[in-house]
Amino acid sequence: MARDGVAVPPSEPQLDLALRPRRLDDFVGQRGVVLNLRTAIDAARMRGEALDHLLLSGLPGLGKTTLAEIVAAESGVGFHASSGPAIERPADLVGLLTALQPRDVLFIDEIHRLPRAVEEYLYSAMEDFSLVIMLDKGMNARSVPMQVNPFTLVGATTREGLLTDPFRARFGLHEKLEPYDTQDLRVVAARSARLLKLPMDDGAAEMLAQRARGTPRIVNRFVRRVRDFVQTSGATHADEALTATALARLGLDESGLLLHDRKLLTLLQRAGSIGMGLKSLAVGLGEDERTVEDVYEPFLIREGYMTRTPRGRMLTARGTELLGNSQTENRLTPDC
Ligand code: ADP
Repeated sequence: MARDGVAVPPSEPQLDLALRPRRLDDFVGQRGVVLNLRTAIDAARMRGEALDHLLLSGLPGLGKTTLAEIVAAESGVGFHASSGPAIERPADLVGLLTALQPRDVLFIDEIHRLPRAVEEYLYSAMEDFSLVIMLDKGMNARSVPMQVNPFTLVGATTREGLLTDPFRARFGLHEKLEPYDTQDLRVVAARSARLLKLPMDDGAAEMLAQRARGTPRIVNRFVRRVRDFVQTSGATHADEALTATALARLGLDESGLLLHDRKLLTLLQRAGSIGMGLKSLAVGLGEDERTVEDVYEPFLIREGYMTRTPRGRMLTARGTELLGNSQTENRLTPDC
């Protein structure tokens, strides 16, 4: 890679792309999902048909986009990506659908955020690849039916519960990605380190895996930061001690919590038994509600530090114990 004759290092998004598995065989973990997709892809291929529409659900960073790309690659077809909020009107969808070659994959990220009018317009396209387009306006307006090439819609969502039943029912394949166990994340860490030409010992990979909240995207972020740290410290490889220092620099404490986790828990501690609504929590953290709900909370709930109740979000006994054990850190963030 060179700009004006000067070699430039790959950017973060380029590194992220470089770490993406391209084939089902390289996709670590999620064995049930991988097996089901392998069968469905092979069967569709033998029949010469487009793969059934596929709904992938799960928390951010678990591999939904990666799997959608893999589905296209394994099926030997083109991949087109968009997202729910980007498709504002049915006309935007017509543009996407008419550009598809036979059996192509159309990936729609955050599909739960598709406007209702677009969703309903998509129904007939999903069922029999037909569309009705409106030509002209007013007195001359007329609707014209048209066919698009058979395609596979791959929808990704962090909130499957927000999809309407008729929409969900139009996906023949539903796969849910769960957080990864430490063993699988260790494999992801070792693979990413190898791809980035970073010598890393097993203890370091294990440490990254344990602190990555079940999420490959977080493992990869850690690996990139550790690589920076190795490079700038003049070390030859990543061992446990160096990795621990790099993680501490990222703000990760011994319980695996980041600063924003502690802030969130401290806010809940202050609210006490009154509990706290999502809106106030988001304002208190200076974040948008979706990030709080989709990115921050799932880990804290899974670890048993907080809970969502009809009265609002609350700190659990485990959360109280955690904060009690680290009063110093709480005092360090008095205005959160
Ligand atoms: P999502 O779409 O669910 O938010 P992505 O597909 O963008 O997640 O995955 C985030 C990053 O994590 C990707 O760049 C990829 O490198 C990595 N990744 C995700 N799942 C896996 C996996 N099973 N094996 C290896 N790497 C993975």
